[in-house]
Amino acid sequence: MERIEIRTKESTELIDITREVTGIVERKSVESGICVIFTRHTTTGIIINENEAGLKNDMVTLLNLLIPKGKGNLHDRIDDNAHAHLRSVVLGSSVTIPIENGTLALGTWQSIFFVECDGPRRREVSVTVVEG
Ligand code: ZN
Repeated sequence: MERIEIRTKESTELIDITREVTGIVERKSVESGICVIFTRHTTTGIIINENEAGLKNDMVTLLNLLIPKGKGNLHDRIDDNAHAHLRSVVLGSSVTIPIENGTLALGTWQSIFFVECDGPRRREVSVTVVEG
């Protein structure tokens, strides 16, 4: 298992980590298997989608629309970030990607994104490669 460190800059932000994950997978020299990318936080997500500037903004807009901040959620009494936890639940905390011919078998338009929902913060993502 290896870790990727990420310093986020915005409260809500998509960060493409495809290059870092691909580097880890290719250094493992595993011909065939799976790769699990997992975020170790309760206010972040991991998703796969297209890296296009407009679409990344659209996703932030969607999160703000679906789960707005400050709607009287009970957890806001603790640390005022219920929206970030709820967005994390909707996004999911991990993705699994097949490895073929020694690299990630992503589709042409697929990129791996770390999604910050309560930034800016220092974050950590784990990458586990399983041969099989
Ligand atoms: Zn909290």
